[in-house]
Amino acid sequence: MKVYVTRQIPESGLVKLRSVHEVIVSGKDRVLTQDELIAELQEHNPDAVLCLLTNSINGKIFDAAPNAKIFANYAVGFNNIDIEAAAERGVTVTNTPGVLTDTVAEFAMSMICATTKRIVEADDFTRAGKYDGWGPMLLLGVDLRGKTLGILGAGRIGTRVAEIAHNGFGMNVVYYDIKQSEHIEKGARATFRATPEEVLQEADVVSVHVPLLDSTRHLINAERLAMMKPTASLVNTSRGPVVDEGALVSALKNGAIRSAALDVFEEEPALAPGLAALSNVIITPHIASATEETRSKMSDIAAENILAHLRGEEPPNSVGGK
Ligand code: NAD
Repeated sequence: MKVYVTRQIPESGLVKLRSVHEVIVSGKDRVLTQDELIAELQEHNPDAVLCLLTNSINGKIFDAAPNAKIFANYAVGFNNIDIEAAAERGVTVTNTPGVLTDTVAEFAMSMICATTKRIVEADDFTRAGKYDGWGPMLLLGVDLRGKTLGILGAGRIGTRVAEIAHNGFGMNVVYYDIKQSEHIEKGARATFRATPEEVLQEADVVSVHVPLLDSTRHLINAERLAMMKPTASLVNTSRGPVVDEGALVSALKNGAIRSAALDVFEEEPALAPGLAALSNVIITPHIASATEETRSKMSDIAAENILAHLRGEEPPNSVGGK
């Protein structure tokens, strides 16, 4: 059978797919436009599609590939896929959970360290030739031991960040989630808070790990940023629209919070006006899961989902649709 892959990904999964099926990978090393993707699907008429979080998958895309009853997303988040439209057409949607948990959590913890210790700012300063000798007041950051980490979204990644921060850095952890979790409470001695507001008011560092849903869009807005401590930092490695980026720019400018670190953006790859000019924000290009090991494992898992479906079995990581 024919598997269409919307962009080159690490070979490991593609090798597995090729051993059984015909695999067609988009020849363009960039995100296909909607029209290009539709044209490609109509031309190749695949039996399965492996797509990326940068592909917006909706009814029109499903209709361009009527034989493809599985769309395997190469990501744990799947907000780029219209699950209802998939369900209406009997299409199964899968993701790649678990394999990227440690990688993204390590990245989030690195962002927490980098923003509280002002590492990127210090690097810029030194490279710019401004370093003229050790100074007692030079680029002062803040300590993490004994401080409070607020986790929003205590799933796989949020829990792992909490464990590293508590067990490795001596931070106290409070968390908000729609459900209480014994994993984070056991692993990081975390304390549940019934509202996001309580976490935002208490935390010295807030790390966001919710999926992008209607209920989490602008979870961090102007009103909630104003509730944070002026000494606090915000780290977002989840999805851009969870934070109102314009409101964050204002909060960083007017000192409502100390600093932020963002791996994801509201209108990716565009940045909110004024964001890049701020020295108290670290911005990275959506690379939290970007390690050689993890990207290969994600390739394997996406392939395994497709292989199972094409064998007529339930894929291991179905998230909805059919
Ligand atoms: P997960 O499903 O294990 O955890 C998500 C948690 O959020 C769950 O505990 C869920 O109950 C909670 N949640 C859902 N709605 C909520 C709400 N309204 N308020 C509070 N909590 C809510 O997912 P995960 O594997 O930990 O991944 C989390 C997210 O991280 C993904 O959905 C993805 O968008 C993002 N992510 C980003 C990158 C990156 O490269 N920056 C990489 C991987 C994952």
